[in-house]
Amino acid sequence: MRSEEQHKDAPGQLALIQALVNTHYGQARHVHRELTTMEHLRTWLIAHRLIAESIPITEGDFRRVLQVREALRGFLRRNTDGENGPGSVELLNTLASNAPLTVRFQPNGLPVLEPDIAGVDGVIACLVSIVFTAMIDGTWGRLKVCRNERCQKAFYDTSKNHSGVWCSMTGCGSRSKARVYRQRHIAQTQDEPVDAPPTRARNGVENVSKK
Ligand SMILES: [Zn+2]
Repeated sequence: MRSEEQHKDAPGQLALIQALVNTHYGQARHVHRELTTMEHLRTWLIAHRLIAESIPITEGDFRRVLQVREALRGFLRRNTDGENGPGSVELLNTLASNAPLTVRFQPNGLPVLEPDIAGVDGVIACLVSIVFTAMIDGTWGRLKVCRNERCQKAFYDTSKNHSGVWCSMTGCGSRSKARVYRQRHIAQTQDEPVDAPPTRARNGVENVSKK
């Protein structure tokens, strides 16, 4: 049987948005954090072919990319729970206003959005164009952030009815199910009347009171 943990990478360039959001997720001993210094960011951007090695990174660039990452995570919440994270749209619009895009037609006649600025602002423009394109081609709605507040990892929902809300059914999904089960069990125990009738005995024989 195919594991649900497989095939969770977004297709095409949308994988870049997923990769950026997933440079930080989880908390405490389950935390995953990649971009903690400007040098880490520079290495990450070069590895993903977003900037040339000669491009310097400033403190402001570092701060803006982390802001874009968290705005994108907030924006992806809509795909999981129907509502954007607070302030994410406004923040993304503010950052995008300094990252202009231009329409360019390819030899095959199809248009693409390209950054009209160099450096890290060009990277932000590139990320915005990927989001825009994914919204048009329909893949955006499947990129989600895990509903577990302590996780918030981005995953690509490959379920047939697009109903996935956990990054992993065996991790965050099963922990959530176990929590709901415990809460129901506690609620049922509290609701049970004190003089409840005897239940079926463990060996399958009804408890019968002696005459
Ligand atoms: Zn998760």
